[in-house]
Amino acid sequence: MSDMKTAFVVATAALLFVGCSQEEPSRGTAITNVTVIDSVNGVRENQTVLFYGDQILAVTSTDSLFPPPEQTIDGSGKYLIPGLWDMHVHLTYDDAFTESMPALFLAYGITSVRDTGGLIEKLNPVIEKMRAPGATAPRVFYSGPLLDGNFVVYDGKSRPEIGTQNATVAMAEEKVAALKAAGVDFIKIYEMVSPEVFAALVSAAQSHGFPIAAHVPLSMLASQAGPSVDSMEHLRNVEMDCASNSAELYEERLSRLKNEGGISGYELRSGMHAAQRVPAILNYDEDRCNRTIASLKSTIQVPTLRLITYPLMSSYDHPDWSEALAQAPETVREDWAAATEEWSTSDDRGDTTFAEWGLSLVGRMHAQGVPIGAGTDTPIARALPGFSLHTELERLVAAGLTPLEALESATIRPAEFFSLQNEMGTIDVGMRADLVLLNANPLDNISNTREIAAVVTKGQLLRPEGMD
Ligand SMILES: [Zn+2]
Repeated sequence: MSDMKTAFVVATAALLFVGCSQEEPSRGTAITNVTVIDSVNGVRENQTVLFYGDQILAVTSTDSLFPPPEQTIDGSGKYLIPGLWDMHVHLTYDDAFTESMPALFLAYGITSVRDTGGLIEKLNPVIEKMRAPGATAPRVFYSGPLLDGNFVVYDGKSRPEIGTQNATVAMAEEKVAALKAAGVDFIKIYEMVSPEVFAALVSAAQSHGFPIAAHVPLSMLASQAGPSVDSMEHLRNVEMDCASNSAELYEERLSRLKNEGGISGYELRSGMHAAQRVPAILNYDEDRCNRTIASLKSTIQVPTLRLITYPLMSSYDHPDWSEALAQAPETVREDWAAATEEWSTSDDRGDTTFAEWGLSLVGRMHAQGVPIGAGTDTPIARALPGFSLHTELERLVAAGLTPLEALESATIRPAEFFSLQNEMGTIDVGMRADLVLLNANPLDNISNTREIAAVVTKGQLLRPEGMD
């Protein structure tokens, strides 16, 4: 630093110092004597973390700040982690849930969400409300509709309308330009697109600077589509690229995709899953799968394990399920409680082949260095907003991640998807003020992320009693 600059800094500091006396506390809130845990810095004991507005101002081992902060929270015996993300949510999928979702996320320490599919006209008012100055809501990043192919799975007929048609390259280019104008944060490519439309969507997204989330299209292999996108969802259609009979399954797929019977996009897609998923898994070829996994080294996998492992490990079996369900909107509560009852009294848990394969594939991907992201698909398939993210973290640990790596998947990984890792995902000076204070150590047991003492969202402190 030059002498002139040094002199300037000293003079400024002196002015600031003159401005504050001991009776006049500085601005901000400090959490003192806390164990700070994040996936980049590891574990730091006996720290004081000071934040003001939407920024962390200090992370220090000194126990008394001068001037003293406006508010002090005793963090003794507690653990502070970065605010959590759910990388796969649908805010507008179920109208009964839309209104209550932001508060439910925050109550469970989820301070950022990535909405992976909804119509712009339905999303706009929801996003506007969540992003309004002073709003108590998670940060939200959204893609707009699923960019589907000639046939559309979520077409509003048999399924809710969250998809749009991209039958040609021209339609794809037009669609991405329109999404740019609409202000989306990324795009989501869906399963029925052709390889040509997929390539057009990727290049349009790149020219507009959008990150890309995708399902592997049914007309492509995971190793062809994966490297061009930033995240892949649900391990969808990866099994074929791990199968010794891949060529045969692919031929069958191309012929089904002609849709000569004229069935709906949903039936066409789901028919292929039903016919091919288990046969592909039963023909698992380790060498081939390792090559596929190697092609995905820079593509975040958002496996939504809580969705995939459903027949094997249900959220309904969790001791906190009933309590969590009680917070859901009334109409949802009745319907889901009936499903819980049905589940708990039935012996038939369905086929578990895909569930077991999903768990082991995530373990193998992780061991081979593929980045993993935490997402739930809430509220689809009875995923309670907020609660289900903690289930996902538990599933990721069951798949082979350490608790710290599971935290990484819900903090720094999603930040990296949006190139925000210099602003979010760790507890460092200058980072955004999104934090979760826990009563128990998440590294001892990942389920301890459920033991929430307080949540800080954009610098706003929320305590359990005030979180309803
Ligand atoms: Zn989804």
